[in-house]
Amino acid sequence: MPHTQFATPIDKLAEVAIKVGLRLEEGQDLVMTAPMAALPLVRRITEHAYKNGAGLVTTLFSDEEMTLARYHHAPDASFDKAAGWLYEGMAKAFDNNAARLAIAGDNPLMLSGEDAAKVARANKANSTAYKPALEKIAGFDINWNIVSYPNPSWAKVMFPDDPDEIAIAKLAHAIFAASRVDVADPIAAWAEHNANLKVRSSWLNGQNFAALHYTGPGTDLTLGLADGHEWHGGASTAKNGITCNPNIPTEEVFTTPHRLKAEGYVRSTKPLSHQGTLIDDIEVKFEGGKIVSAKASRGEEVLLKVLDTDEGARRLGEVALVPHSSPISASGLLFFNTLFDENAACHIALGQCYAKCFKGGDTITPDEVKAQGGNASLIHIDWMIGSDQIDIDGITQSGEKVPVFRKGEWA
Ligand code: ZN
Ligand code: ZN
Repeated sequence: MPHTQFATPIDKLAEVAIKVGLRLEEGQDLVMTAPMAALPLVRRITEHAYKNGAGLVTTLFSDEEMTLARYHHAPDASFDKAAGWLYEGMAKAFDNNAARLAIAGDNPLMLSGEDAAKVARANKANSTAYKPALEKIAGFDINWNIVSYPNPSWAKVMFPDDPDEIAIAKLAHAIFAASRVDVADPIAAWAEHNANLKVRSSWLNGQNFAALHYTGPGTDLTLGLADGHEWHGGASTAKNGITCNPNIPTEEVFTTPHRLKAEGYVRSTKPLSHQGTLIDDIEVKFEGGKIVSAKASRGEEVLLKVLDTDEGARRLGEVALVPHSSPISASGLLFFNTLFDENAACHIALGQCYAKCFKGGDTITPDEVKAQGGNASLIHIDWMIGSDQIDIDGITQSGEKVPVFRKGEWA
């Protein structure tokens, strides 16, 4: 793949992944996962990791053709299997303070033509097997980071009418801009961005709202926040003491909603790309924090299967605020990738909550998380409910309304 014209921004992205995304510490091991197509970025990241004193970098590659070979040729029993031994090893590495880096970039529609039942079974088997490792990431035991690579198959989904080279160049520029590596000093740009997000999360923590009330087309939703919730945004400190930027890009401030306290209707404002399937025009109704009815104009079968993953899959684990004027939203692009699209709009997530989003989150126990309203599930799926037509009020502990968003912007 002719990526020589991107050598400089790819090197800057690799440096940002190691120095901002992970803040990799001297002697720390690194476990990286990546699509084969991202090899040029994997090589630069590995180089920066060792220059920064990494102990051992271990990379696991995936490949779209190999993934599809399973769907096309594997026996039926294959779809209940997952590499549990691998995830147990990952969990062991995290116990020994290894950092985790994931490179995103798969074709978001890769599995959209496959049997939805097989996709759901394979996803469930994988989620179950991944649990020991995911718990340590969701619990923020170690520093972790996700960055993206302009994979040609992803570029063709976003820009289907452009020739390959143009499509790849457009996606590459969009990734580099959103990841703030298209500037002279990306490290300084990230320091400034982190400071701005801190101002927003500090204001919300000072307000200590009991609930948020969303109104807009198809949406009238009151979302109770968990007891002792804490808002976060930008850089955050993992339990191993390292302050890192898990998601690159990131524009959100987010916290934990109360799993029993969502009431009303909400409609999605952007399509959700879930493990290879596109789910569009989601409309759900909440009662007592639980989704009691759900539909979608596209991908409904997959959505309904996702909601039946486990008890916590119908309840919320995250609420996040993102202004409509965020750079990713302003780009006007739909990335078909949650990492980007969630940073273009306010969103909520079904499933597992982040223990980090509680006061004293470093030491809080799973029982305390549950008692304070935190949700537990095998899944964590963000979907977008924000637009320039959404208003949000904060409801204070004494029941007063405070404007938070008006027409999609901070009030
Ligand atoms: Zn989020
Ligand atoms: Zn999320």
